[in-house]
Amino acid sequence: MPQTHTNETTERVKRWLATDPLNADRKTIQTTIVREWKERWQREVDRSRARHRGHAEEPADEPPAKERLKLHDGLQKAESSLLVQMRTGKIGLRAFLFERRVPDVMTPVCVCGDGRETARHVAAYCQLEETTRRELPFAMRTHRDFDPAVKDPTRAASLTRWLMRRQRVGGYRVALQIADSEEPVVMPPTRRQPRWLS
Ligand SMILES: [Zn+2]
Repeated sequence: MPQTHTNETTERVKRWLATDPLNADRKTIQTTIVREWKERWQREVDRSRARHRGHAEEPADEPPAKERLKLHDGLQKAESSLLVQMRTGKIGLRAFLFERRVPDVMTPVCVCGDGRETARHVAAYCQLEETTRRELPFAMRTHRDFDPAVKDPTRAASLTRWLMRRQRVGGYRVALQIADSEEPVVMPPTRRQPRWLS
C-alpha cells in the first residue's frame, strides 16, 4: 500500500541521509526512492480505481511529490498514521468500514444523519463538530477546504491532531489491515465509544 510505503520511504531517506558520510549520491538515492514510490503509487491507484469505479477520488489520488514527505515532519507516529488515513479515505470511520463490510457497521451514514461518515464529512460538515471545528486555526467551512488542509503541512498537522482529539476514528489497526487486504475483514473493529455518545 502506498501510504505505508510513504512512511517507510521517509524513514529510509532520513536514515540514508543521516548515515551516508560522503553525501555523495544523496540526490540519486532520493530520486530513486521517489521514482519507485511514484510507480508503486500509480499501481495502487489503478488497482483501487478498478475496484471502486464511480467513487469520489480522495486527496491522495494524485501524484506524490517530494514536498509531500514534509507533511509528516514533526508528527508522532499515530498522528502520521491518521493523516495517511485521512488522505486516502481508508480510515476507521463508517463510510470505509461499511464499504469493506466490517461486521457491526450497518450503515455508512454518520450518526448526525447528514451524510457518509468520512474524514471530509467529520472535518467539514458534521453537525456534531460545529463547536469543536472552531478550535482549528483555519476556516473549515465547505468540502473544498478539506483538500488544502490535508496537503499543507501546517494545516495537516492541526487537522490531524484535531481529529485525534475527537476520538471518533476507531480501529486504526483494523483500518490499516483492511487497506492492505483485498478481502473483507472477519473481525469486528475495536471502535472506541465516541465522546459525544458517552
Ligand atoms: Zn456527521
